[in-house]
Amino acid sequence: MGKNSSNTPHSIERIQQWKEWDHRYIWRPFTQMQDYDQEPPLIISHGRGAYLYDIDGNRYFDGISSLWVNLHGHARPEITEAIARQAANISHSTLLGQGNIPSIELAKRLVDLTPPGLDKVFYSDNGSTANEVALKMAFQYWRQVGRPEKMKFVTFDGAYHGDTIGSVSLGGIDLFHGIFGPLLFKRCSAPYPVFSKYTSQESPQAVAQRSLDAVKSIFKQHNNQIAALIVEPLIQGASGIRTAAPGFLSSLRELCTRYDVLMICDEVFVGFGRTGAMFACEHESVSPDFLCLAKGISGGYLPLAATLTAQKIYDAFLGDYAEFKAFYHGHSYTGNQLGCSAALASLDIFETDGVLNRIKPFCKRLEERLDALFEQCDLVGDIHQRGPSAGIDIIRSRRGREPFRPAEKMGAKACLALRKHGIWLRPLGDTLVIIPPLVTTVEQIDDLMDAVEQVLKELQ
Ligand SMILES: *Cc1c(COP(=O)(O)O)cnc(C)c1O
Repeated sequence: MGKNSSNTPHSIERIQQWKEWDHRYIWRPFTQMQDYDQEPPLIISHGRGAYLYDIDGNRYFDGISSLWVNLHGHARPEITEAIARQAANISHSTLLGQGNIPSIELAKRLVDLTPPGLDKVFYSDNGSTANEVALKMAFQYWRQVGRPEKMKFVTFDGAYHGDTIGSVSLGGIDLFHGIFGPLLFKRCSAPYPVFSKYTSQESPQAVAQRSLDAVKSIFKQHNNQIAALIVEPLIQGASGIRTAAPGFLSSLRELCTRYDVLMICDEVFVGFGRTGAMFACEHESVSPDFLCLAKGISGGYLPLAATLTAQKIYDAFLGDYAEFKAFYHGHSYTGNQLGCSAALASLDIFETDGVLNRIKPFCKRLEERLDALFEQCDLVGDIHQRGPSAGIDIIRSRRGREPFRPAEKMGAKACLALRKHGIWLRPLGDTLVIIPPLVTTVEQIDDLMDAVEQVLKELQ
């Protein structure tokens, strides 16, 4: 195979075959397959920078970073070479009873990089397991420090923490989670302090206070039975890119400390630059008891996740073998060398490219364009944005406060129309999600927003 084999055009017969097999054999995640089979298939052949290329040779701007994972662009030489170098040595050995070099180096980098007080790194493969690990550690911690009555969990309405049964139990999106109700454990839920500079009628302080009061009354009511609270810091992702009132997170940290409740920050989405800072917690100088990382951790190249926690949690799991205090949890690919090597290369790029500074102009441009869109377009009901991440809610009429009916599938229609403009977005219901890779330029934001404006005009 030639060096540029991924760029060579595919034969018509191969393309037809792939499209047919795609329909015949693949069951896609979060997808109504009956609809999917009616849409023109989009099968990716390769990627370069912020663009994806399909097998027919069309180019698309990857406006959702391949489901919120890609940071530094596709086929980035520094990352692909790091993976290749590591694969030439060894691709995987177990972390059960052994160590490996990239997992050690990455753990040290993560502890140095994350907020103070996070001293230990437990690896897994994805966001759901990162949260599942935190949940089980928190539960077992209280049993081993002699407080077994602390068994309950507190979460937020609209929360999304993953798709395994434990992480689904912590979630608050009925559409995804309702049907599994009988399988889930009970948890207490408080309203998330959703704040939009465009539409919120109240001050951010008032919005934050209402949520804090609800959390406090749960803490009081269940007095000493709460093990942990889990929160998506600054932005709830899957519920539609909902931004939180500033100041909420730091007050929440104080409340957890006061009531002796462990705080789990799910930064699976917001970590690694998605709010403009390396970690969302940094905006409000918060150190959680557990920090869950996945999605962008490997730059978006390989499945990898980490749950970071404090020395005091770790210490509660120490004891004689026969006390059985160990954390009995692990996965086949825990601490995988290829994933950790990709993550190290990604962290290097953050430094060498000054990524967190370099994204500022495009984030500012995104905000300006969103401001203008909200002014102009009656189809835009609300917008939430924080740094490089945004959600645009479309409704039939803002003035009439009238949403579209779900059967109209307007979010999906808008995204299908955007494909014709060379833009790939995947909506959450009627929210257009804009989460471009961190390599995005001001010009690419303009192209993206020109297309969004045009498509919304056509839908009006
Ligand atoms: C995506 C996501 C998860 C789940 O991660 P997976 O890797 O898909 O299991 C958990 N929490 C948040 C906030 C997420 O955005």
